[in-house]
Amino acid sequence: MSSPVVFAVFAVILISVSVFYLFFYRNWRRNRELRQPFPAPWRSVLEEQVPFFRRLPEAQKELLERYVQLFLLEKDFYGCDGFEVDERVRLTIAGHACLLILGRSFSHYDDIRSILVYPDVYRVQHAWEHGMIVHEGEEVRAGEASSHGQVVLAWSECEHAANDSRSPHNVILHEFAHQLDYLDGSADGAPPLNTEQASHWQQTMTEAYEHLQNTIEHHHKPWLDPYGATEPAEFFAVLTEAFFQQSEHLRHEQPKVFNALRDYYRFDPLNPG
Ligand SMILES: [Zn+2]
Repeated sequence: MSSPVVFAVFAVILISVSVFYLFFYRNWRRNRELRQPFPAPWRSVLEEQVPFFRRLPEAQKELLERYVQLFLLEKDFYGCDGFEVDERVRLTIAGHACLLILGRSFSHYDDIRSILVYPDVYRVQHAWEHGMIVHEGEEVRAGEASSHGQVVLAWSECEHAANDSRSPHNVILHEFAHQLDYLDGSADGAPPLNTEQASHWQQTMTEAYEHLQNTIEHHHKPWLDPYGATEPAEFFAVLTEAFFQQSEHLRHEQPKVFNALRDYYRFDPLNPG
C-alpha cells in the first residue's frame, strides 16, 4: 500500500474510534453493565442502608438498582484521611443519591465524576466576606458539592442518614440536590425547569424562603433547618432533605412547596410508584 492510502486508512480508523467514543461508548458501556443482574447481596445492603428503599414498590426498586449499577460503574470513590471505601459505603451513597433522580433520568448525574469520603466531619480552610472585610478561618463540614463534578461526604453523617429515615438531616440527599441545582450552570436554588414551572417555582420558593428568614429574624424556631435561610441554594438542598425525610410534615406545613418539589422530582415520596 502506498503511503497516502495507509494514511487515509489510519485517518478513517481514528475518526471512527473517536466518533464511537464520543457518541456511543457511554451507552454501550451502560447497556453492557445493565445486562448483568443486580447482585442479591447488594439488594440486602440497600434494604438495610437506604430506609426509603424499603418503601418503594418492586418496579421502582428495580429502577433504583439499575441507576445504582450505573452510578457504581461511572463514579470514582476515594477514601480520605485513611478511610476505607467498601461496598457498603458505595451502595449507601449511590442508593440515596439515585433516589433523587428516580423520577427523572440518570443523565442528571452524567457530570459527577468522583465522591470523596471522610470518616467523620472534616475541617477546611475557608474565606468569607463581611462587608469590605475578608475573614479567614477553619470550618467544620459534613459534606460539600462542587460544580466540577465532585461530592465530598463525611461517612459518620451518611451513617446517620442510613439509621434514621425521619431525621431532618441527610447529607447525601443534601449534597446531591446541590448537584442538580448546578445543572443549569448556577447555584441559585432552582434546578433546570421548563418555562411554565420556572415562574411558579420562583414565586413559591421566594415566598417560602422569605417566610423562613422572617421566622428566624423574629426569633421563632422554624421547623425547617435554619441553615436553609442562608442562601437560596441551601434552601433547595434543605427542602430536598425535608421532602424525602419529613414528607408528611412538609406537605402539611407548606403544601405549595411540597407540590413544586413533587413536580420537579416527578416523584411523590408519600405515594411512590
Ligand atoms: Zn449545602
